[in-house]
Amino acid sequence: MSSSQERALIFDIQGFSVHDGPGGRTLVFFKGCPLRCYWCCNPEGQNQYREVMYRRSKCQMCYRCMDSCPNGAIHVKNKGDFIAIDRSKCGYCNNLDCVKGCYNGALKVVGKYMTIDELMMKIERDRRFWGTGGGVTLGGGEVMLQYKFAARLLEECHASYIHTAIETSGYAPWSHYQEVLKNVDWLFVDIKHMDPDIHRKGTGVSNVSNLENIERMASHQKDYQMVIRIPVIPGYNDNTENIVATAKFMKRIGVHVINILPFHRLATSKYEQLDRKYACKNMESPRLGDMYQIQNIFHNYGLMCYVGSDTPF
Ligand code: SF4
Ligand code: SF4
Repeated sequence: MSSSQERALIFDIQGFSVHDGPGGRTLVFFKGCPLRCYWCCNPEGQNQYREVMYRRSKCQMCYRCMDSCPNGAIHVKNKGDFIAIDRSKCGYCNNLDCVKGCYNGALKVVGKYMTIDELMMKIERDRRFWGTGGGVTLGGGEVMLQYKFAARLLEECHASYIHTAIETSGYAPWSHYQEVLKNVDWLFVDIKHMDPDIHRKGTGVSNVSNLENIERMASHQKDYQMVIRIPVIPGYNDNTENIVATAKFMKRIGVHVINILPFHRLATSKYEQLDRKYACKNMESPRLGDMYQIQNIFHNYGLMCYVGSDTPF
């Protein structure tokens, strides 16, 4: 397949963001992630296949979708009930006839295969809105799961004089990062927890390779601006011991900027639409005062710490 025909699975493109890199940005979200963070705010970005989301608020109980599905995956207990989707029967269904069968917009597909040319066309269309210093940010999901495509897209952006950024969990082979980072101007990388066992409990994977990667990334900071991000999850990673360990690690490897992002529950309805359990359904966001306390710890270590979207980037 020639490079112009290569395709990546994308689950969202946001035309204008001011919080994910300098200036205005076009955000491209890659679908598929090897982590399963229990607080994830983009559950529709986790699976690396297209899937159906069901919005009960739009459903008219017409049951047309039941007849459309070739796999018998949709059923209803009693007339007048909402439909139930047996997702084990959907598998990697590519027809998604259920969505075509629904005239009320209650079913929608998440995930679209796109070529470099298709993405570049969208990116170029947004360009005039970015202002000075803006550009493109690739995130997910985990952009590194589709690293070859991402590397090509970033190369294409640079060839068109477009500023580039990526957001990554740090969980991918270093050789893949080497390929992608060749054309990255701005790098956001997460530290979710400093303890490998607690990291595994919260995300499904150990942090050993993440921290090794972050240390390697730090040694190439002449090539890009590097910012650490922590999603602050109450009761998981917001304790002083973990924050101090993160600050000491950053000091040691020479990364000076951190952005702490408070947990929020905005993803609740997405979990419902995907028929998934949401472990954080009843969890409160951290209070602003708690965020400032964490910020103070980083400041005490001489690091520049920004809270939430209150950043210069
Ligand atoms: S995704 Fe495919 S298998 Fe699943 S309900 Fe829709 S048409 Fe049926
Ligand atoms: S076709 Fe759409 S509106 Fe009708 S039952 Fe199915 S999801 Fe609901």
